[in-house]
Amino acid sequence: KRKGLGHWHIFDPDEEQVVQLKIDNSLILNIRNALRDNAFHLVYQPVVNLHTEEISHYEVLVRMLDERGETISPGLFIPVAERSGEIRRIDEWVLDNALKQFSEMRALGPCPKLAVNISAPTMQADDFPQMVIDTINKYHIDPDDLIIELTETSYIENFQQVLRNLQQVTGSGVRIALDDFGVGYSSFTHLKLLPLSYVKLDGSYIRQLQQNQEDQIFVRSLAAIVEAYGMETIAEFIEDEDTLGLLRSLGVTHGQGYYLGRPAPLVLGESHQRRSTSH
Ligand code: C2E
Ligand code: MG
Ligand code: MG
Ligand code: MG
Repeated sequence: KRKGLGHWHIFDPDEEQVVQLKIDNSLILNIRNALRDNAFHLVYQPVVNLHTEEISHYEVLVRMLDERGETISPGLFIPVAERSGEIRRIDEWVLDNALKQFSEMRALGPCPKLAVNISAPTMQADDFPQMVIDTINKYHIDPDDLIIELTETSYIENFQQVLRNLQQVTGSGVRIALDDFGVGYSSFTHLKLLPLSYVKLDGSYIRQLQQNQEDQIFVRSLAAIVEAYGMETIAEFIEDEDTLGLLRSLGVTHGQGYYLGRPAPLVLGESHQRRSTSH
């Protein structure tokens, strides 16, 4: 248009887009190979009750190995899998393997509940509630021992379907946590409409919490709303004692972060005492 009538300009994707596409394609290949070769594994990070200091549950986090055996972070490959459609198979793999490990742990003694991340595209499928119920039954899991984290890194296209699915899942006794609240596609409407037990405040509000008055106001207000709705707040990214104390004083009930425990493999027979915080 700028060149005036009769001038044409061939669309030429800029360098950045080309590079992103190449990265996506190589990651898609990696994901397909990993699904074929079973090259995923799970790590578990404790979520701690800030009043009792006991482990409330573990969040299950997936890791992928590439051809050379190096670990690829889910922050890299999950968004690509969401765009390429491979996410469904990853979410199924994670749910199945997490519940399998959980049933093995439980056979040996008490073990905290599990929270499994499921991406929005997977939650939108008609058969999502059945997938959850089938996996629970397969491993004889008590639905009360499972929490599902709705990660809103990708946009929910069919909100009504997600709502119906989550109502069906919670009807069976499984609980729902809304992940990464405060960024991305999260909305206050979701707090009101979805059948939630936990709201996970995104780490970006916690990182600068001590210096940032606005973040403190947001955290305090959100914790009050969440409590008034009868749900619980989980703060991510707690990396030091001072932040932990501040979050407690702002009314946050649960926390997660390197200070409270890093993601680690579950060791069969290990006792689930919280690892020492004096490090
Ligand atoms: P998320 O669900 O919000 O998980 C929390 C992320 O923060 C994890 O990164 C965890 O290792 C990291 N983290 C926890 N505490 C701290 C801390 O104190 N400091 C710092 N710097 N980081 C901390 P991770 O494992 O790399 O996962 C990234 C994201 O990938 C997750 O964010 C989640 O959205 C997605 N993801 C991970 N596993 C799965 C999965 O099995 N399925 C799906 N659909 N998504 C997953
Ligand atoms: Mg999560
Ligand atoms: Mg989170
Ligand atoms: Mg997050």
